[in-house]
Amino acid sequence: MKPGRIIGFILGSALIYFSVGAYFSNEAAAQTDTGRIMIYVAGAFGILMVISNLFPAKTPQTMQTVIPQTPPQPSLSCPTCQKPVEVSFQHCPHCGVNLHPICPNCKKEVSVEFKVCPYCATSLKEE
Ligand SMILES: [Zn+2]
Ligand SMILES: [Zn+2]
Repeated sequence: MKPGRIIGFILGSALIYFSVGAYFSNEAAAQTDTGRIMIYVAGAFGILMVISNLFPAKTPQTMQTVIPQTPPQPSLSCPTCQKPVEVSFQHCPHCGVNLHPICPNCKKEVSVEFKVCPYCATSLKEE
């Protein structure tokens, strides 16, 4: 249990103790309508504090463990030299390969790794 939770638990218990004690006291202030409302509010707030500090919500902890499992992958890797490249790059800055080659016959964009254009079967290797 964290120190903050112990303090919250003690404060909540003190509020319950205060409201119960004021409820059964013979003081004139506690017998008025506003006095009763204040006692009820203080008692309810104390009960809420005790419960929330005894049974803390577990959602923030599970969310913290989930976030590192899915790190963002902003960059791709070059299919030729495997070094990181950005999606917007037209050529790899490391090996100079054209990352978005266009078929010389049908002018459609093809992959660097393709040997043959998948649209018109034209050979893409200039050997
Ligand atoms: Zn490269
Ligand atoms: Zn083609």
